[in-house]
This record gives sequence, structure tokens and C-alpha cells, in this order.
Amino acid sequence: MHTLAQEPRTTQQTASARSTGCARARSGQSSGVSSLLHLQRTVGNQAVQRMLEADPEEDRAAGGNGGGLRSVVERHFHTLSAAIRRDGPAVQSDSAGADDREPAIDAKAPAAQAPTASSDRSASDLAEGRTVHFSSLPPIDAPAQWDAIASILSYSPDIGTTPPPAVLTEFGKTNSRIEVNQSSATQNNATFNVELVVDNVIRYWVAGGNRTDIASDNDADITQANYPTVVSDLTPAAAPVNTGGLALLKNQPPRTRFWAEDLTIKHEEFHAADDEKFGREGALEGRDWLNRQTAGSFNDVEVLLGRVSQMVAARILAAMAPPAVEQRAYDDGAADYAARARAIKVKGDAWGYAPTPPARPASAPAPPAAPKAPAPPAGGRP
Ligand SMILES: [Zn+2]
Repeated sequence: MHTLAQEPRTTQQTASARSTGCARARSGQSSGVSSLLHLQRTVGNQAVQRMLEADPEEDRAAGGNGGGLRSVVERHFHTLSAAIRRDGPAVQSDSAGADDREPAIDAKAPAAQAPTASSDRSASDLAEGRTVHFSSLPPIDAPAQWDAIASILSYSPDIGTTPPPAVLTEFGKTNSRIEVNQSSATQNNATFNVELVVDNVIRYWVAGGNRTDIASDNDADITQANYPTVVSDLTPAAAPVNTGGLALLKNQPPRTRFWAEDLTIKHEEFHAADDEKFGREGALEGRDWLNRQTAGSFNDVEVLLGRVSQMVAARILAAMAPPAVEQRAYDDGAADYAARARAIKVKGDAWGYAPTPPARPASAPAPPAAPKAPAPPAGGRP
């Protein structure tokens, strides 16, 4: 809290030995400007000018803005000159429009309402050249103004699965949601100490639709009849493809009839790891930004936290723009797909799978129709 009457709380203050200085909490540039404007309104331009001339000391005393110590409360002194016209002995008029800063030297005031030090003063104390010190005037707390923000970041990524949608257009999808609503702030010594909690809720799903899952080269669904299709479906594209309704990035397997659920999960988990990583970067960025802000109220702090949330999400979006993000994921998974396809080809070429449909004599009844190949997903990518 920024109060002009604040006692020094650190040993860094050096101003107490000076006769002129600046009384305010060191809490950022806008706070300084605000204090100056306030002071200017209160004591006038000349006094502020005098203060500004003395101000270079303040920067040395207060230290920088980027270290761990976010706020230094200093106690400075202003010695300003003012002249108050002395009324005649019998005149009690306030025609000069006195404000509340005018010292209430009123010999007729009841003793109970006057500062104790004045109780033994009287009009007869008036003497040419005499100086009176008003040491008993009570300090007045000024309201808090714009306080600095010091935040401790707690970043909590949470990766999990979620059910696929009813209508499948992709093999899988990963979403990230940024939440800062577990955050809190405490105001103390001209600083809002913020416990910045950034939750990154990451959820993905995978689904193969009508396709057959091939979990390994030993999968029971592989036959001598279908293994060439299994191999081609799981083989990553050697180069980008965009022909005959089939669009593939380099290293993306076609998966027209067969897919591999475990490798698709691995692909989505790659995206989730990206979300986690870029979310962390965004959270650190947001924390550093927050530490450069000032706030005048808890409502201000709340607004700033909302902006941090947007910054984190924006960071993820910018870092995970397609198609680069998909290319990275397919590149990451290509070796696994290639190894599985290769193993299946080796085994099939060696007649290692059951023949299906069974070898049929020319006179035998027609075998059951082969399962119809499902339509390729509409622009779907795992
Ligand atoms: Zn993907």
C-alpha cells in the first residue's frame, strides 16, 4: 500500500539524512508520475520543481525494477517554503479560503481538540523571529494508488483424453484451454503479490472410424490377402501428396482402411507436449509482463490476469500454426510407422500371415464380400 506516512521497511532508504526528497513508495514509473501530479496539485509547481531537482537521488536509493525485490518503500522528506499571512489579533476570518493543509494555529481552540504541543502555546507566544515546531501533528495515511505487481508463477499442465465427437473428420485432435482462475493476490507494502496460477488443460481424442486397428505386425487382422494394403496404409508418405482426393503431408501415412491407434495416440501426445511447452513459455511471458504492470485495485489485477490468460493462449496459437505443427508431429512419428509397415511387409512376403479368404476352388461358393473400404476422412489429420 502506498502511504506517504509509511515507515521505512528496508535498510535501503538513504533519504532520511537529506533535507529534501520524495516521499512515496517506489513502485514503478506511473506511480511516480501519479505521485508527482498529486503533489503538484497539493503544493504547487514551484515545490514540485524543487522536488524534481532533488529527484536523481531517488533512483539510486530505490534500485532497479527488474530484480527479485519488487518494491522499496522509502521515507523521504520535503522541506518546502510557504507564507501564510498573519491575521490581525481580533480577526478570525477564513476569507483566504483556507484548506485542510493550513496549520491550525488558533490560540482560541479548545485544548482538547488541539495538538498537545500547542496546549502551552498562546497568542502571547507570538514574537518576532521565533520558530515553533509542530511536532505533534498526526500522520495522515494517503489512499493507495498504483501499486506494483510481484507474481509467483505456478504452471500446471494437465494432459488427458476426451471422447471423440459423433461425426469424425479426423483421426484425432488435441485441444488446450488456459485457465488462470485459481490465481490470487495480496496487497502489501505498495505491491500486489500475485499467486499466478496458469492451468493448461490439454485434452485429446483419437478415433479410427471404420478403419481396422493394426496394433503390431502380429495383429490378427492382418492376412496374406490384405497385408499389402496394411503396409501401404501405414507407410509414411515419402513426399507431400495431393492427388485423387488424397492429401498427405510428408511422413503422413495414408490410412485408407487400416490405422494404428497407438501411433495415432503418440501423434496427439506430441501435440499435447507442444501445448504444454508453448503454454509454459506463454505463462513465463505473461508473468514477466504482469510484473511490469501496476494496478490501482484488485479489479485492475483481475483484468490483468485475464490478459495474461489471453497472452498464454496467443503464444500457443502462434507457435502451433499449421501446417508446420502437423509436419513436426508426422516427422516425429514417421520412424514408428515405417518400422511397423516394414515388419508387416517382411512377414507377409514370407507368407507369415493366415490366408484370408481361404484358398477357394473354382466351384466353391463365393466368399463373403470383403468389408467395404470406408471413405477417406474429409481433410482429417491425426
Ligand atoms: Zn496432428
